[in-house]
Amino acid sequence: MTIFDRMADRDHEEIIFAQDREAGLRAIISIHSTVLGPALGGLRMWPYKSEAEAIEDVMRLAEGMTYKAAASGLDLGGGKAVIIGDPGTDKTPELFRAMGRAVERLGGRYITAEDVGTSVADMNHIRETTRYVTGTDRAGGGSGDPSPTTAAGVEESIMACVEALDGGTPQSDELLDGLRVAVQGVGHVGAIVCRNLSAKGAKLTVCDIDRKQAERVAAECGATVVDPDEIFDVAVDVFTPCALGAVLNRETIPRLKCRIVAGAANNQLADIERDGALLESRHILYAPDYVVNAGGLINIYYRDIEGRKSDSIAWSPTGIYENMKQVLGMARERKIPTYKAAQQLAEARIEEGRRKKAATG
Ligand code: NAD
Repeated sequence: MTIFDRMADRDHEEIIFAQDREAGLRAIISIHSTVLGPALGGLRMWPYKSEAEAIEDVMRLAEGMTYKAAASGLDLGGGKAVIIGDPGTDKTPELFRAMGRAVERLGGRYITAEDVGTSVADMNHIRETTRYVTGTDRAGGGSGDPSPTTAAGVEESIMACVEALDGGTPQSDELLDGLRVAVQGVGHVGAIVCRNLSAKGAKLTVCDIDRKQAERVAAECGATVVDPDEIFDVAVDVFTPCALGAVLNRETIPRLKCRIVAGAANNQLADIERDGALLESRHILYAPDYVVNAGGLINIYYRDIEGRKSDSIAWSPTGIYENMKQVLGMARERKIPTYKAAQQLAEARIEEGRRKKAATG
């Protein structure tokens, strides 16, 4: 499939290649949709093996942002950016200033943010050359690290799923007490999820390709550490992917020994239709990733776009519990898999936005 075919297939508006020789920048910005508002989405830095791999990733991620914003009821479109490079060795302030200039040239159609491989410090460098950046440091008036709110959304989603399967007091900590949870990837989000869940009595198994990081988090939370490849085989109530995408696929889903999948990672299903159906056939309740992980986006929206400054926002419930209940309820009533219910919720909102736009010219 050519890039244009792929864009047409998934209704992408625009893809931009940005290059700055002196700064060493090779970046791709994908604007999937601006129907509901400016395309907001994080900037990922990753040593992609090929340009094709980077394009595939940025397009999938941008599309996910459209659905995430729409399903969360936010007036935002979906976009994403990737820098091809190693975040461990290739970062310089000038690289991010050059990235900022590329973002600025889009005049606000794309707004950037932190993602895997980038940090609040990187966003601060981007701010030197563009207004269209979120997640800069709190001291400078930005929304800071979105991970705590994203982690809060993961916890709310797990509660909604446990309640849907087992009943119990709505949104209560009792739902988490004694719950067995396997967390894949204990970086920014995963580590906070572990701390929050263990404080409420959950029994954790963790893994990370950075073994030392896994051991640090495990020591704090009384968790068991397993090798990254073993995490799919652990008998638990909940599997919580907090690493990279496409971890749920034909090879891994048959291995799962859980009742629920609910985690922060973007694009968890390698193939949405096939793997969503596979989870359904195994009677595993799948909490759609972009509904689960919208907490960071919600925090950014209220703080950086609407300009609310209250500190309580970052820690207050994100609204994801109600959103997740709505998705699970739709799936039950319409007798459809949960990933489809989330899609239908998002698509209905995008369609409404399209009608409104057409009506106002
Ligand atoms: P991070 O880079 O801080 O953490 C990811 C962790 O996963 C790292 O510790 C890494 O070593 C580990 N990892 C990578 N591959 C692994 C594998 N195969 N097995 C086990 N561990 C592995 O990233 P993060 O900010 O914590 O984000 C985690 C996921 O959540 C990403 O998919 C990200 O796109 C998504 N997400 C994050 C936010 C946020 O607020 N940070 C918001 C929405 C979605």
